[in-house]
Amino acid sequence: MITALAGGVGAAKFLTGLVKLVNGKDLTIIVNTGDDIELFGLHVSPDVDIVTYTLAGIVDEEKGWGIKGDTFRCLEELRKFSREAWFNLGDKDLATHMFRTALLKNGLTLSNVTVQISQALGLDVAILPMTDDKFETRIMTANGSIHFEDYLVKRGAKDRVLGVEFLGAESANPATGVVESIMDAKLVVICPSNPIVSIGTILAVKGVRDAIRRTEAKKVAVSPIIAGAPVKGPADKLLRGLGHEVSAYSVAKLYSDFLDTFILDLSDSAEKDKIEKLGIEVKVTNTIMKSLEDKIQLARTVLES
Ligand code: GDP
Repeated sequence: MITALAGGVGAAKFLTGLVKLVNGKDLTIIVNTGDDIELFGLHVSPDVDIVTYTLAGIVDEEKGWGIKGDTFRCLEELRKFSREAWFNLGDKDLATHMFRTALLKNGLTLSNVTVQISQALGLDVAILPMTDDKFETRIMTANGSIHFEDYLVKRGAKDRVLGVEFLGAESANPATGVVESIMDAKLVVICPSNPIVSIGTILAVKGVRDAIRRTEAKKVAVSPIIAGAPVKGPADKLLRGLGHEVSAYSVAKLYSDFLDTFILDLSDSAEKDKIEKLGIEVKVTNTIMKSLEDKIQLARTVLES
């Protein structure tokens, strides 16, 4: 059994390679829900949807999120009524959010709904939201604390990050199966995702970090930082805002209490010795995932670790 911790785009690219090498039934993916947001009465779960759409082969690959070929007519109409229509909700994508919200209103959990959606889209991997409870990532800025999507999408990650807070972290329980899948795994993979607001959130859910420390599984992380910068997204701004240098080493250090092996990009090979001094084994390879072959090759390196 393999368990992967995942955010959105970086993780989904990596998992595309991994599912080509392992049986879907042997894979559990625990996904960040700190970015979840209610918009126009609908529950949107961005990272869960990115992973689901990507593995189902329907993601808009250019954007990395949403459904390929989707249109935005509903959003255009909404913009006539409200300046709050800033989140990119495609017409087909809206069907997912409507279905999810209706089931949640009927008392199902986010995990129950996620199973239904992923099965309907033909997936056999288990996609598990990290929690079924309220957990909200907020970014502290000079203008106060704002929802992560407000920071990222509405305001274009322009505010200086003064801190990060996880609302609900004290009370949110891991979804059923999260801790069990970590304890039963032979391998726990930390996908190349934002270490603060994608992996950091999962690790902040009660009992998760502790389970990862205790499990006998081998723990392998892929660096989301290449040549001292993220491939995409605001990981640099968040790392810097929290007082960390922007480097692969910083990410390895954040995981050093549990990590066995760190997969470092060729362009960061100068950091190998420093990371090894943290007591972590380092493998250096190409981690830039452009083609399907890149994704499979990176997944193979992780499996062989
Ligand atoms: P988000 O929630 O959509 O931002 O997705 P994630 O948290 O999963 O991914 C963001 C991280 O993925 C960023 O730090 C990127 O640098 C990293 N990432 C994206 N593409 C690649 C890639 O091809 N290779 C590696 N190593 N990291 C990547």
